[in-house]
Amino acid sequence: MAFAKKSLGQNFLISERVVGGIVMAGEITPGEQVIEIGPGKGVLTAALLRAGAHVIAVEKDDRLIPLLATRFKPEISRGDLVLIHGDVLESMDAVSIRIKGHYKVIANIPYYITGQIIRQFLSIDDKPDSMILMVQKEVADRIIARDGKESILSLSVKVYATPSLVMNVSRGNFFPIPNVDSAVLKLSDIKMPFANTTDESRFFETVKAGFAQKRKKLAGNLTSVMPKDQVAQKFKALGLDDNARAEDVSLDIWIKLAQ
Ligand code: SAM
Repeated sequence: MAFAKKSLGQNFLISERVVGGIVMAGEITPGEQVIEIGPGKGVLTAALLRAGAHVIAVEKDDRLIPLLATRFKPEISRGDLVLIHGDVLESMDAVSIRIKGHYKVIANIPYYITGQIIRQFLSIDDKPDSMILMVQKEVADRIIARDGKESILSLSVKVYATPSLVMNVSRGNFFPIPNVDSAVLKLSDIKMPFANTTDESRFFETVKAGFAQKRKKLAGNLTSVMPKDQVAQKFKALGLDDNARAEDVSLDIWIKLAQ
């Protein structure tokens, strides 16, 4: 096969230990549905199938499709694996019609679309039960907010799910070796936090406004989305310090600020 395509984020996993760790974090019960984004040459796909999952795998690279079709011919003919050739961000209709009931997303994803993949699966009506994703280590750290500093990214994930770190994965576990380290991130307890789309838009509008100017205090930033006296009133009611910074405010307070 031709060499790995950097533009498609192709760094193939070469460690069975890491593959095993991902599958274990998925807590797969036989017959469970799993969506895999970017199966590549199928190292994780094979392990998911061995664990008894019914896999729907979406791969964009046309060079990999015949390879996967050959490798998994028996699983495809048994209906244990459905291979979809396409861009995951444009194939949601094709994926959705194949999902029946509960499902998980388990994948070593292309990092150039990490944010879009997470957003896509957390904001659709039929959300997964959980997501186990290999992501760039810094992204996992920011989502989990291990240093206690929230960001637009961490709040956008935490409002829908509970993030946790499964394991750190050094760059030597991939080929070609990428120039970043990775981590396996788990998003569990995925829920529908908003009663309607207006509340959802209002939440994101408030968070974006709050973080708009990094050096400004939160109170100042929020005046772009609500009157100054309303900001003052809310701060008082929520016991927020006038000097508070957006990054120091927790999710439950953001939800109340947006209401
Ligand atoms: N899962 C394999 C593994 O662990 O070895 C491959 C992982 S590699 C990091 C990412 C995979 O996603 C590649 O196979 C790449 O072709 C595929 N890919 C890239 N962009 C994609 C997209 N927009 N939709 C679906 N697959 C994509």
